[in-house]
Amino acid sequence: MSAPVAGVIDLVREDLRAFGGYRSARSERVDGQVWLNANESPWANPADADATARRYPDPQPADLRAALAALYGCRPEQLLAGRGSDEGIDLLVRALCTPGQGAIVVTTPTFGMYAVVARVQAARVVDVPLDDGADGFTCDFDAVAEAAERAQARLVFLCSPGNPSGTALPLPRIAALARRLAGRAVVVVDEAYGEYASGPSAVTLLDAHDNIAVLRTLSKAHALAAARVGAVIAHAELIAVLQRCQAPYPLPQPCVALAMQALSPPSLATTRERIVTTIMERDALRVALSATPGVRRAYPSQANFVLARFDDAQAAWDALLASGVVIRDFRATPRLGDALRITIGTPEQNALVLETLRGVREAAA
Ligand SMILES: *Cc1c(COP(=O)(O)O)cnc(C)c1O
Repeated sequence: MSAPVAGVIDLVREDLRAFGGYRSARSERVDGQVWLNANESPWANPADADATARRYPDPQPADLRAALAALYGCRPEQLLAGRGSDEGIDLLVRALCTPGQGAIVVTTPTFGMYAVVARVQAARVVDVPLDDGADGFTCDFDAVAEAAERAQARLVFLCSPGNPSGTALPLPRIAALARRLAGRAVVVVDEAYGEYASGPSAVTLLDAHDNIAVLRTLSKAHALAAARVGAVIAHAELIAVLQRCQAPYPLPQPCVALAMQALSPPSLATTRERIVTTIMERDALRVALSATPGVRRAYPSQANFVLARFDDAQAAWDALLASGVVIRDFRATPRLGDALRITIGTPEQNALVLETLRGVREAAA
């Protein structure tokens, strides 16, 4: 058991601190052989060959929680599994921001879901834009702290490595921000691309800072986006509050089974191989893009994509589309009016991207 820490619980909405959530049939701790308590069918559906879908699933399967905790380096009670890290973002905003009063801090350009979820909760979004400098995008941590204090924001969303910036934030700065905002705000570190980064996870800061929450997911490096399995990792008391705000049966049993397979040692070994390949391809693509005429700038990346600015982004976009390659257009994002984001594909796909972009300039010349 972790020692009770007053700090982080004081950040939960006052009206939710004593909230018990929904008591499902699965939450009763009783035992028996004939289960007639949840209005489930006593017969299996013939489509359900191994008869595992008849009953409601465990809300937080202990084996999944243990496997994810082992993978990410925390204790099981510090981890809540949910429907992707998107659900984690949603739970944090709903539990910490009083509708119509709360505020969050984001650092644009960043993942759009933080602002979407805040909008749904009628929480204010305070933006402290990343600085675009010689080392790529960097975070002004002092400005973030001041903005959070001024707005009395309960949540600061940091994305590291950043989407779409590609930069990883220094852990000592994240720790210092958490220390400064202790008792005032939770610093959320979204590590959706953590597997592709060279540095350690912010999970290592959890024991020293009760107001850090880390988001992880099986959607990217683990290649399971359709299974919708992600995790929030935070102080055990905050995790307990988030679970009470979560849907009663958030994890479909087939998805849990798939995730457990993916977390077995042989599957994890292949995942590590894919990550190594992706990192090599990413670094090679960035170097090659930087030397490609028409590419103004290819940003350094610690993730599985490269953000690049183009002299003529429309021509690059059109040429790639003509080759059948779809990338992400960031031209509608402030300060990224000439930028496109290219996800790292297979070596063949990345070669096609390069070949196509090299052709753009030749065609124009
Ligand atoms: C893709 C992505 C997510 C969403 O992950 P899910 O686990 O699939 O919900 C979260 N954060 C960032 C920054 C992402 O890019």
